[in-house]
Amino acid sequence: MWCGRLARCRGSVSLPVERGRDARTTVWAPEGDEEMATATLTSVSDLSKDEILRYSRHLIMPEVGMDGQLKLKNAKVLCIGAGGLGSPLLLYLGAAGVGRLGIVDFDVVDFTNLQRQVIHGTADVGRSKLESAQATIREINPNVEVVGYNARLTSENALELFRDFDIIVDGTDNFPTRYLVNDACVLLGKPNVYGSIFRFEGQASVFYARQGPCYRCLYPEPPPPGLVPSCAEGGVLGVLPGIVGCLQAMETIKLIIGQGQTLIGRLLVFDALGMKFRELKLRKNPDCPVCGAHPTITRLIDYEQFCGIRGEEHTSEMSGIPEIEPREVKRLIDEKQPFVLIDVREPHEFQICRIPGSTLIPLGEIPKRMHELDSASEIVVHCRSGQRSARAVEFLMKAGFQKIHNLKGGILAWSDQVDPSVPKY
Ligand code: ZN
Repeated sequence: MWCGRLARCRGSVSLPVERGRDARTTVWAPEGDEEMATATLTSVSDLSKDEILRYSRHLIMPEVGMDGQLKLKNAKVLCIGAGGLGSPLLLYLGAAGVGRLGIVDFDVVDFTNLQRQVIHGTADVGRSKLESAQATIREINPNVEVVGYNARLTSENALELFRDFDIIVDGTDNFPTRYLVNDACVLLGKPNVYGSIFRFEGQASVFYARQGPCYRCLYPEPPPPGLVPSCAEGGVLGVLPGIVGCLQAMETIKLIIGQGQTLIGRLLVFDALGMKFRELKLRKNPDCPVCGAHPTITRLIDYEQFCGIRGEEHTSEMSGIPEIEPREVKRLIDEKQPFVLIDVREPHEFQICRIPGSTLIPLGEIPKRMHELDSASEIVVHCRSGQRSARAVEFLMKAGFQKIHNLKGGILAWSDQVDPSVPKY
């Protein structure tokens, strides 16, 4: 029977501890873990008449019932991010009657979010995601206490923020935050309901170091920076975070009501194109640096540095890639100055928008097609935001091209500064 920190609620009464695992219930309080194993009555012990009506489809199921619904009402769940995964998660956890929902997000809703972040609407564009999510949850279920933290999750604030919640749900899309969430959960002994998405593939698991592996047991090292593109770079089908976020919501509710087999020790991998779920058994790594027998990480570290992100920025600054401003390129065009404009995006991006006169050579084809370029000409290279083209310029400079520049800010900046009729994506 799980109650976690509810044991600390005022007026709580300790009940006999139920240990072990029975056939029907996943008990996730390990032997000898008094804090997690202490089942209690909580400060809220009743549902109102309105709540009984609202949750009636839960209450008539023996697996939930009054007991389970009260556990939901007394549960405190913190969701990191109110984006693609956070949207379905928060909607369903709110609708299900989780008593306190915390949200950490510092972002603002933009138009590109609306294709998947269904907790926000068109009228919310420009509004903080926190405010928008809070308003939607209140509309769905005014019984839920929504606590917003308008901040970036950092090593300085994570432990403090997590401390007041029973379960942390990771709805982030970047590696530094993912390792930070994992380590903070391991250090505090809290379950981390994990989900991730990319294009047509999703993953979900529950990392709970007291009963199974943690994220570092699965992925001890982050991938090299830039190897795994973000949703902004690689795209994502809008329904996918809906499905994975719902899996996370389901796991969270199972943990709270203590029913079913959770994803502790299992990684669920979802292939949307093939419409297949696969399951990988996960083992705890006895040498895991954070949850192993002899941990080397005993407090939160610098996760940007750990994931090599600052290192990468440093390199790009140091390598001195020559840049050219969009307005300067416009001047060259207007004055009919001779130069070559190369677009290193992919063909499907070229179909969305293009700068007139540009030649498409996708980044991956640059090595085999660089003979098409004359190193004596002035060359400007661009992509969407300026990152891929910086890599192309770097490559071409190493190959001997000297009169070459990267279009600063890519076609996005071109749209902002030169030609607003070019659509942004
Ligand atoms: Zn571990």
